[in-house]
Amino acid sequence: MPRVFSGIQPTGDPHIGNYFGAMKNYVKLGDQLGKNSIYCVVDLHAPTNPSAYDPKFLAQRTFDMAVANMAAGLDPEKVIFFVQSHVPEHTQLAWLFTVITPVGELERMTQYKDKAGKLESTPAGLLMYPVLQAADILLYKADTVPVGEDQVQHIELTREIARKFNHAFGDTFPEPKAVLEKDALRIPGLDGSGKMSKSKGEATTIGILEPLDSIWQKLRVAPTDPARVRRTDPGDPDKCLIGDYHKLFSDLPTLETVYQGCRTAGIGCIDCKKLLLGSMTQELAPIQERAAALRADPDFVRDALLQGAREARAIAQPVFEEAREKVGFLKL
Ligand code: ATP
Ligand code: MG
Repeated sequence: MPRVFSGIQPTGDPHIGNYFGAMKNYVKLGDQLGKNSIYCVVDLHAPTNPSAYDPKFLAQRTFDMAVANMAAGLDPEKVIFFVQSHVPEHTQLAWLFTVITPVGELERMTQYKDKAGKLESTPAGLLMYPVLQAADILLYKADTVPVGEDQVQHIELTREIARKFNHAFGDTFPEPKAVLEKDALRIPGLDGSGKMSKSKGEATTIGILEPLDSIWQKLRVAPTDPARVRRTDPGDPDKCLIGDYHKLFSDLPTLETVYQGCRTAGIGCIDCKKLLLGSMTQELAPIQERAAALRADPDFVRDALLQGAREARAIAQPVFEEAREKVGFLKL
Protein backbone atom coordinates (compact mmCIF):
# COMPACT_ATOMS: atom_id res chain seq x y z
CA MET A 1 0.00 0.00 0.00
CA PRO A 2 1.35 3.47 -0.81
CA ARG A 3 2.45 5.67 2.08
CA VAL A 4 1.58 9.33 1.64
CA PHE A 5 3.18 12.34 3.30
CA SER A 6 2.59 16.05 2.72
CA GLY A 7 2.94 19.28 4.66
CA ILE A 8 1.67 22.83 4.62
CA GLN A 9 3.38 25.83 6.19
CA PRO A 10 1.63 28.05 8.75
CA THR A 11 2.80 31.18 6.95
CA GLY A 12 -0.65 32.73 6.57
CA ASP A 13 -4.22 31.84 5.77
CA PRO A 14 -4.54 28.94 3.33
CA HIS A 15 -5.67 30.08 -0.10
CA ILE A 16 -7.46 28.52 -3.04
CA GLY A 17 -4.08 27.49 -4.53
CA ASN A 18 -3.28 25.44 -1.42
CA TYR A 19 -6.82 24.07 -1.40
CA PHE A 20 -7.05 22.87 -5.01
CA GLY A 21 -3.33 22.17 -5.46
CA ALA A 22 -2.79 20.20 -2.26
CA MET A 23 -5.45 20.09 0.49
CA LYS A 24 -8.22 18.46 -1.57
CA ASN A 25 -5.77 15.76 -2.57
CA TYR A 26 -4.94 15.13 1.09
CA VAL A 27 -8.60 14.41 1.77
CA LYS A 28 -9.00 12.19 -1.31
CA LEU A 29 -5.89 10.13 -0.54
CA GLY A 30 -6.85 10.00 3.13
CA ASP A 31 -10.19 8.45 2.21
CA GLN A 32 -8.36 5.76 0.22
CA LEU A 33 -5.39 5.06 2.47
CA GLY A 34 -6.45 5.87 6.05
CA LYS A 35 -3.54 5.93 8.51
CA ASN A 36 -1.10 5.39 5.63
CA SER A 37 -1.69 9.03 4.74
CA ILE A 38 0.25 11.39 6.95
CA TYR A 39 -0.23 15.17 6.94
CA CYS A 40 1.55 17.81 8.85
CA VAL A 41 1.48 21.52 9.59
CA VAL A 42 5.18 22.17 8.94
CA ASP A 43 5.81 24.90 11.49
CA LEU A 44 9.60 24.39 11.54
CA HIS A 45 9.73 25.62 7.95
CA ALA A 46 7.87 28.86 8.68
CA PRO A 47 10.75 30.82 10.31
CA THR A 48 13.03 30.13 7.31
CA ASN A 49 11.34 33.03 5.49
CA PRO A 50 11.68 36.11 7.73
CA SER A 51 9.30 38.09 5.51
CA ALA A 52 6.43 35.70 6.38
CA TYR A 53 7.29 34.92 10.00
CA ASP A 54 6.51 36.63 13.28
CA PRO A 55 6.92 34.75 16.60
CA LYS A 56 3.78 36.51 17.90
CA PHE A 57 1.63 34.77 15.28
CA LEU A 58 3.28 31.38 14.73
CA ALA A 59 1.30 29.39 17.31
CA GLN A 60 -2.03 30.92 16.27
CA ARG A 61 -1.30 30.39 12.58
CA THR A 62 -0.33 26.78 13.25
CA PHE A 63 -3.61 26.21 15.06
CA ASP A 64 -5.55 28.02 12.30
CA MET A 65 -3.89 25.91 9.61
CA ALA A 66 -4.90 22.76 11.47
CA VAL A 67 -8.48 24.06 11.71
CA ALA A 68 -8.54 24.93 7.99
CA ASN A 69 -7.43 21.45 6.95
CA MET A 70 -9.92 19.75 9.25
CA ALA A 71 -12.67 22.06 8.00
CA ALA A 72 -11.72 21.20 4.41
CA GLY A 73 -12.40 17.54 5.17
CA LEU A 74 -9.25 16.09 6.70
CA ASP A 75 -10.44 13.68 9.38
CA PRO A 76 -7.82 13.21 12.14
CA GLU A 77 -9.48 9.95 13.16
CA LYS A 78 -8.99 8.57 9.69
CA VAL A 79 -5.53 9.92 8.75
CA ILE A 80 -2.45 10.92 10.77
CA PHE A 81 -2.46 14.71 11.22
CA PHE A 82 -0.02 16.57 13.46
CA VAL A 83 2.33 19.53 13.90
CA GLN A 84 5.91 19.02 12.70
CA SER A 85 7.72 20.49 15.74
CA HIS A 86 5.87 18.04 18.01
CA VAL A 87 7.90 15.20 16.48
CA PRO A 88 11.57 16.02 17.14
CA GLU A 89 12.86 13.28 14.80
CA HIS A 90 12.17 15.62 11.84
CA THR A 91 15.08 17.90 12.76
CA GLN A 92 17.24 14.97 13.86
CA LEU A 93 16.92 13.19 10.53
CA ALA A 94 17.39 16.50 8.70
CA TRP A 95 20.88 16.72 10.21
CA LEU A 96 21.83 13.29 8.89
CA PHE A 97 20.73 14.47 5.43
CA THR A 98 22.47 17.85 5.77
CA VAL A 99 25.84 16.14 5.86
CA ILE A 100 25.26 14.32 2.55
CA THR A 101 23.55 17.11 0.54
CA PRO A 102 25.75 19.23 -1.75
CA VAL A 103 25.35 23.00 -1.19
CA GLY A 104 25.35 23.48 -4.98
CA GLU A 105 22.16 21.41 -5.31
CA LEU A 106 20.43 23.58 -2.71
CA GLU A 107 21.58 26.83 -4.31
CA ARG A 108 19.96 25.96 -7.61
CA MET A 109 16.45 25.45 -6.11
CA THR A 110 14.01 27.90 -7.73
CA GLN A 111 12.08 28.56 -4.52
CA TYR A 112 15.32 29.39 -2.68
CA LYS A 113 16.37 31.82 -5.40
CA ASP A 114 12.90 33.46 -5.47
CA LYS A 115 12.58 33.88 -1.72
CA ALA A 116 16.26 34.73 -1.04
CA GLY A 117 16.17 37.33 -3.83
CA LYS A 118 13.63 39.37 -1.84
CA LEU A 119 15.67 39.37 1.39
CA GLU A 120 18.55 41.58 2.48
CA SER A 121 20.15 38.79 4.47
CA THR A 122 19.37 35.13 3.75
CA PRO A 123 19.11 32.75 6.70
CA ALA A 124 20.90 29.40 6.18
CA GLY A 125 17.55 27.80 7.07
CA LEU A 126 16.07 28.99 3.78
CA LEU A 127 18.84 27.18 1.92
CA MET A 128 18.32 24.07 4.08
CA TYR A 129 14.54 24.07 3.63
CA PRO A 130 14.49 21.19 1.10
CA VAL A 131 16.73 19.06 3.35
CA LEU A 132 14.23 19.36 6.20
CA GLN A 133 11.48 18.65 3.68
CA ALA A 134 13.30 15.46 2.59
CA ALA A 135 13.48 14.43 6.25
CA ASP A 136 9.75 15.16 6.70
CA ILE A 137 8.90 12.74 3.90
CA LEU A 138 11.51 10.02 4.41
CA LEU A 139 10.99 9.84 8.19
CA TYR A 140 7.77 8.00 7.32
CA LYS A 141 9.33 6.13 4.36
CA ALA A 142 6.61 7.81 2.28
CA ASP A 143 6.62 7.05 -1.44
CA THR A 144 3.83 9.43 -2.52
CA VAL A 145 3.77 13.20 -1.97
CA PRO A 146 0.70 15.24 -3.03
CA VAL A 147 1.91 18.78 -3.80
CA GLY A 148 1.55 21.69 -6.21
CA GLU A 149 3.89 22.00 -9.18
CA ASP A 150 6.17 24.45 -7.35
CA GLN A 151 7.31 21.61 -5.07
CA VAL A 152 8.28 19.13 -7.79
CA GLN A 153 11.91 20.27 -7.79
CA HIS A 154 12.12 19.71 -4.02
CA ILE A 155 10.69 16.20 -4.34
CA GLU A 156 13.31 15.48 -7.01
CA LEU A 157 15.95 16.51 -4.49
CA THR A 158 14.32 14.28 -1.86
CA ARG A 159 14.74 11.38 -4.29
CA GLU A 160 18.36 12.28 -4.75
CA ILE A 161 18.96 12.48 -0.98
CA ALA A 162 17.30 9.05 -0.52
CA ARG A 163 19.54 7.64 -3.30
CA LYS A 164 22.67 9.13 -1.76
CA PHE A 165 21.80 7.85 1.72
CA ASN A 166 21.00 4.35 0.43
CA HIS A 167 24.23 4.27 -1.57
CA ALA A 168 26.38 5.43 1.36
CA PHE A 169 24.75 3.50 4.22
CA GLY A 170 22.69 0.68 2.70
CA ASP A 171 19.14 0.46 1.41
CA THR A 172 16.89 2.40 3.82
CA PHE A 173 14.55 4.88 2.12
CA PRO A 174 12.16 4.74 -0.85
CA GLU A 175 12.49 7.32 -3.64
CA PRO A 176 9.18 9.19 -3.34
CA LYS A 177 7.15 10.60 -6.21
CA ALA A 178 5.20 13.86 -6.36
CA VAL A 179 1.51 13.49 -7.26
CA LEU A 180 -0.08 16.56 -8.79
CA GLU A 181 -3.70 17.63 -9.20
CA LYS A 182 -3.63 18.11 -12.96
CA ASP A 183 -6.25 20.88 -13.06
CA ALA A 184 -4.60 22.88 -10.28
CA LEU A 185 -0.86 22.73 -10.89
CA ARG A 186 -0.10 26.38 -10.18
CA ILE A 187 -3.01 28.68 -9.41
CA PRO A 188 -2.15 32.30 -10.19
CA GLY A 189 -2.44 35.07 -7.61
CA LEU A 190 -4.77 38.06 -7.91
CA ASP A 191 -1.89 40.14 -9.24
CA GLY A 192 -2.03 37.80 -12.23
CA SER A 193 1.67 37.03 -12.06
CA GLY A 194 3.21 33.77 -10.90
CA LYS A 195 1.54 31.55 -8.33
CA MET A 196 -0.72 32.50 -5.45
CA SER A 197 1.43 32.34 -2.27
CA LYS A 198 0.65 32.90 1.39
CA SER A 199 3.92 34.75 1.89
CA LYS A 200 3.16 37.30 -0.84
CA GLY A 201 0.45 38.79 1.38
CA GLU A 202 -3.31 38.73 1.54
CA ALA A 203 -3.86 41.31 -1.18
CA THR A 204 -2.88 38.71 -3.81
CA THR A 205 -4.63 35.67 -2.32
CA ILE A 206 -8.16 34.38 -1.91
CA GLY A 207 -8.33 32.66 1.45
CA ILE A 208 -10.55 29.62 1.85
CA LEU A 209 -11.66 30.98 5.24
CA GLU A 210 -11.86 34.58 4.04
CA PRO A 211 -15.26 36.28 4.56
CA LEU A 212 -17.19 36.20 1.28
CA ASP A 213 -17.70 39.96 1.22
CA SER A 214 -13.94 40.44 1.45
CA ILE A 215 -13.47 37.95 -1.41
CA TRP A 216 -15.99 39.95 -3.43
CA GLN A 217 -14.08 43.22 -2.85
CA LYS A 218 -10.99 41.52 -4.31
CA LEU A 219 -12.81 39.92 -7.25
CA ARG A 220 -14.53 43.20 -8.13
CA VAL A 221 -11.22 44.92 -8.91
CA ALA A 222 -9.32 41.85 -10.17
CA PRO A 223 -7.84 42.17 -13.68
CA THR A 224 -9.58 40.41 -16.58
CA ASP A 225 -8.58 39.80 -20.22
CA PRO A 226 -6.69 43.04 -21.01
CA ALA A 227 -7.82 42.87 -24.66
CA ARG A 228 -11.45 43.32 -23.54
CA VAL A 229 -11.48 47.08 -23.11
CA ARG A 230 -15.21 47.83 -23.57
CA ARG A 231 -18.23 45.81 -22.44
CA THR A 232 -19.05 45.20 -26.12
CA ASP A 233 -15.61 43.75 -26.95
CA PRO A 234 -15.44 39.95 -27.07
CA GLY A 235 -12.98 38.45 -24.56
CA ASP A 236 -10.86 35.32 -24.22
CA PRO A 237 -11.70 33.49 -20.96
CA ASP A 238 -8.51 31.45 -21.31
CA LYS A 239 -6.51 34.65 -20.92
CA CYS A 240 -8.47 35.83 -17.91
CA LEU A 241 -7.79 35.28 -14.22
CA ILE A 242 -11.53 35.10 -13.53
CA GLY A 243 -11.79 32.43 -16.25
CA ASP A 244 -9.00 30.48 -14.49
CA TYR A 245 -10.85 30.62 -11.16
CA HIS A 246 -14.17 29.65 -12.81
CA LYS A 247 -12.49 26.46 -14.03
CA LEU A 248 -11.77 25.53 -10.42
CA PHE A 249 -15.09 26.45 -8.85
CA SER A 250 -17.92 26.42 -11.40
CA ASP A 251 -20.04 23.56 -12.63
CA LEU A 252 -20.33 22.78 -16.34
CA PRO A 253 -23.48 24.84 -17.12
CA THR A 254 -22.00 27.93 -15.41
CA LEU A 255 -18.70 27.41 -17.23
CA GLU A 256 -20.52 27.21 -20.56
CA THR A 257 -22.47 30.40 -19.75
CA VAL A 258 -19.38 32.42 -18.91
CA TYR A 259 -17.12 31.01 -21.64
CA GLN A 260 -19.71 31.47 -24.36
CA GLY A 261 -20.82 34.82 -22.92
CA CYS A 262 -17.27 36.17 -22.73
CA ARG A 263 -16.35 35.14 -26.29
CA THR A 264 -19.51 36.74 -27.72
CA ALA A 265 -19.55 39.77 -25.40
CA GLY A 266 -22.90 38.42 -24.15
CA ILE A 267 -21.85 38.78 -20.51
CA GLY A 268 -20.01 41.63 -18.81
CA CYS A 269 -17.03 41.11 -16.52
CA ILE A 270 -18.90 42.16 -13.38
CA ASP A 271 -21.71 39.65 -14.05
CA CYS A 272 -19.10 36.99 -14.76
CA LYS A 273 -17.44 37.82 -11.43
CA LYS A 274 -20.79 37.60 -9.64
CA LEU A 275 -21.31 34.10 -11.02
CA LEU A 276 -17.83 33.22 -9.78
CA LEU A 277 -18.67 34.52 -6.32
CA GLY A 278 -21.78 32.29 -6.36
CA SER A 279 -19.68 29.21 -7.23
CA MET A 280 -17.08 30.11 -4.61
CA THR A 281 -19.80 30.53 -1.99
CA GLN A 282 -21.10 27.02 -2.70
CA GLU A 283 -17.66 25.48 -2.20
CA LEU A 284 -16.35 27.65 0.64
CA ALA A 285 -19.40 28.42 2.82
CA PRO A 286 -19.66 24.86 4.24
CA ILE A 287 -15.90 24.84 4.95
CA GLN A 288 -16.20 28.19 6.73
CA GLU A 289 -19.08 26.87 8.82
CA ARG A 290 -17.09 23.81 9.87
CA ALA A 291 -14.09 26.04 10.70
CA ALA A 292 -16.26 28.20 12.97
CA ALA A 293 -17.48 25.08 14.80
CA LEU A 294 -13.90 23.81 15.24
CA ARG A 295 -12.70 27.19 16.53
CA ALA A 296 -15.48 27.08 19.09
CA ASP A 297 -14.05 23.77 20.38
CA PRO A 298 -10.25 24.34 20.51
CA ASP A 299 -9.71 21.42 22.90
CA PHE A 300 -11.02 19.03 20.27
CA VAL A 301 -8.45 20.37 17.78
CA ARG A 302 -5.61 20.26 20.33
CA ASP A 303 -6.47 16.68 21.40
CA ALA A 304 -6.58 15.58 17.76
CA LEU A 305 -3.12 17.11 17.13
CA LEU A 306 -1.72 15.52 20.28
CA GLN A 307 -3.01 12.11 19.23
CA GLY A 308 -1.69 12.73 15.69
CA ALA A 309 1.80 13.49 17.04
CA ARG A 310 1.73 10.24 19.05
CA GLU A 311 0.78 8.24 15.96
CA ALA A 312 3.43 9.99 13.85
CA ARG A 313 6.14 9.42 16.44
CA ALA A 314 5.36 5.72 16.64
CA ILE A 315 6.43 5.49 12.98
CA ALA A 316 9.17 8.13 13.08
CA GLN A 317 11.20 6.90 16.06
CA PRO A 318 12.18 3.46 14.71
CA VAL A 319 12.93 4.90 11.25
CA PHE A 320 15.21 7.53 12.76
CA GLU A 321 16.91 4.87 14.95
CA GLU A 322 17.52 2.74 11.87
CA ALA A 323 19.08 5.70 10.01
CA ARG A 324 21.13 6.75 13.02
CA GLU A 325 22.63 3.30 13.45
CA LYS A 326 23.42 2.99 9.76
CA VAL A 327 25.30 6.29 9.83
CA GLY A 328 27.42 4.73 12.59
CA PHE A 329 26.60 6.57 15.81
CA LEU A 330 27.43 4.91 19.12
CA LYS A 331 24.50 3.07 20.66
CA LEU A 332 24.48 2.62 24.43
P1 ATP B 1 4.56 30.27 1.14
O1 ATP B 1 4.40 31.50 0.32
O2 ATP B 1 4.79 30.53 2.60
O3 ATP B 1 5.60 29.32 0.56
P2 ATP B 1 2.47 28.76 -0.14
O4 ATP B 1 1.21 29.44 -0.47
O5 ATP B 1 3.46 28.52 -1.24
O6 ATP B 1 3.15 29.52 1.09
P3 ATP B 1 3.03 26.19 1.09
O7 ATP B 1 2.70 25.95 2.52
O8 ATP B 1 4.45 26.51 0.74
O9 ATP B 1 2.08 27.36 0.54
O10 ATP B 1 2.57 24.96 0.23
C1 ATP B 1 1.55 24.07 0.65
C2 ATP B 1 1.10 23.25 -0.55
O11 ATP B 1 0.30 24.06 -1.43
C3 ATP B 1 2.26 22.72 -1.40
O12 ATP B 1 1.94 21.40 -1.82
C4 ATP B 1 2.29 23.65 -2.59
O13 ATP B 1 2.84 23.05 -3.75
C5 ATP B 1 0.80 23.96 -2.77
N1 ATP B 1 0.59 25.25 -3.43
C6 ATP B 1 0.99 26.46 -2.94
N2 ATP B 1 0.61 27.45 -3.77
C7 ATP B 1 -0.03 26.86 -4.81
C8 ATP B 1 -0.67 27.35 -6.02
N3 ATP B 1 -0.71 28.65 -6.28
N4 ATP B 1 -1.24 26.46 -6.88
C9 ATP B 1 -1.22 25.12 -6.59
N5 ATP B 1 -0.63 24.59 -5.48
C10 ATP B 1 -0.05 25.44 -4.60
MG1 MG C 1 5.36 27.67 -0.74
